[in-house]
Order: sequence, then structure tokens, then C-alpha cells
Amino acid sequence: MLFKQKGILFVLSGPSGVGKGTVRKALFKKDTSLKYSTSMTTRPMRPGEKEGVDYFYRSKEAFEEMIKNNQLLEHAEYVGNYYGTPREYVEKQLDEGNDVFLEIEVQGALQVKENFPEGVFIFLSPPSLEELKNRIISRGTETETLVMNRLNAAKEEIDMMDAYDYVVVNDQVDHAVENVQAIVKSEHCKRERV
Ligand code: 5GP
Repeated sequence: MLFKQKGILFVLSGPSGVGKGTVRKALFKKDTSLKYSTSMTTRPMRPGEKEGVDYFYRSKEAFEEMIKNNQLLEHAEYVGNYYGTPREYVEKQLDEGNDVFLEIEVQGALQVKENFPEGVFIFLSPPSLEELKNRIISRGTETETLVMNRLNAAKEEIDMMDAYDYVVVNDQVDHAVENVQAIVKSEHCKRERV
């Protein structure tokens, strides 16, 4: 590339439990040039999670203040909690020519698509709904009701698959990571201009 272009916004989305986090973390080990945008949430911290690493954990009031001040690129209410993408970090990284990676649920991804139609939208799909249910249960972080709520949300999310540029089936993590990496490379070639 002979001149500096803006970075590319990649949005990895798909139902909770499909393995977005696992795929993203494995991808980031292979491609160190990508920047991850840490989300903000009102949901309680899970054991092992860290402030500023997994999420920025905020009160409902603080989150609503961010919405009011237009400081979020997108936000969604998901199974009783807010989740959102802080705007400033993403815009700064893109302006500096860095690729940014978002890992978010479907309602949020569709909002990003409205504002960033040039973004690249990747849907990570489970091999089947039965497999998704097993993965959510085996994660062991949710009560039975929350598992059912997440599965119901997943069905609605899977219906939105056609709105995405790419679908990657997460049957095996290394397979899915290779496919996402191929998408990143291909999108770079698409934009390569001298
Ligand atoms: P969890 O509670 O399991 O960490 O996340 C629940 C869902 O919210 C997952 O599908 C996750 O990808 C999504 N999520 C995480 N961060 C964001 C965000 O900033 N915006 C949106 N819309 N969804 C998010």
C-alpha cells in the first residue's frame, strides 16, 4: 500500500454461546495488527473476568448517560442487560489506519451496518441449535431460565444471518479462525490501491 488508508471495521456477530470470544482470541494470537474494541456492559462481572479486558462494567445510569451523550457507536439490550461499543476508541483507531474488530450480538451489528455500511459483517453460526444449547449449558455461567432466554434470542439472531457479508460455521475453532483470517486478508486485497 503506498498511501495510508483508513482501517477496516470487522464485526463478528452471532448468537451467545457460539464461540465468538474463543474465535476472536485465537484470531488475535495469529493477527496482532487487529485492534479489539472492548465493550461496555451493565451485566455483573463473571468469575475470572476483568474490568477493561472483558468489558467495561458500568451501572445502568452511567450506561444511559453514555447513550444520551452519543458516546456509543451502537448499543443493545440483551437478556435484561445493556451492551454497547464505545465510539471514541473505534473512530480513533480507524482514522489511524488500524483495523478494528467488534464482537457483538445481532441487534448491535445491524445498527453498526447502518452507520458503517463499508464495514465487514461476519456471522459466526453454530453447527446446529442443539449444539449451541450444549455449549451454553457446558459454559456453566447461566441459570436454566437464562439458558432458555439465550436460546430464544439465538433463534431470532440466526434468522438475521442473511444481512451479513459472510457466514462462518464454528464446527471447529481452528477451522473457523482460518476462515475469519481469510476474510480479513481478502478484504484487504479488495481495498488495495496504489
Ligand atoms: P455475554 O453476557 O455472554 O458476555 O454477552 C452477551 C451477548 O452480548 C454476546 O452475544 C456478546 O457478543 C454481546 N455483546 C458483547 N459486547 C457487545 C456490545 O458492545 N454490543 C452489543 N450489541 N452486543 C455485545
